[in-house]
Amino acid sequence: MALTDCPSCNKTISDKATTCSHCGFAIGDATAEDLLRKKSLNKFKKQHSIQNQSMLAMLMFVAGFGFMYWGGAQPGDFQHTIAIGVSVTGFVWYIVNRIRLIFIKRAD
Ligand SMILES: [Zn+2]
Repeated sequence: MALTDCPSCNKTISDKATTCSHCGFAIGDATAEDLLRKKSLNKFKKQHSIQNQSMLAMLMFVAGFGFMYWGGAQPGDFQHTIAIGVSVTGFVWYIVNRIRLIFIKRAD
């Protein structure tokens, strides 16, 4: 029994299965064109979610940075440390999302 990825939810299923045991997607009924369409839709959704996360990450970075400068907290303060943490996390998260987006766009 070979294993394949469900075109709908990308979980591993048997290639003999007619419906996905995870999401119920009817593989037997789907044509190659359907599968392709589903795949590109998945890719689009994934890209969209990463883009949203990038926005959120950028917002975290800006908010943390802003608080560090205009929040009135002094270096060494608990709030100041938190602000740096949020800012750094947002920055790293943003970079990670950009890299993920590049890899998704390349994976054709
Ligand atoms: Zn599935």
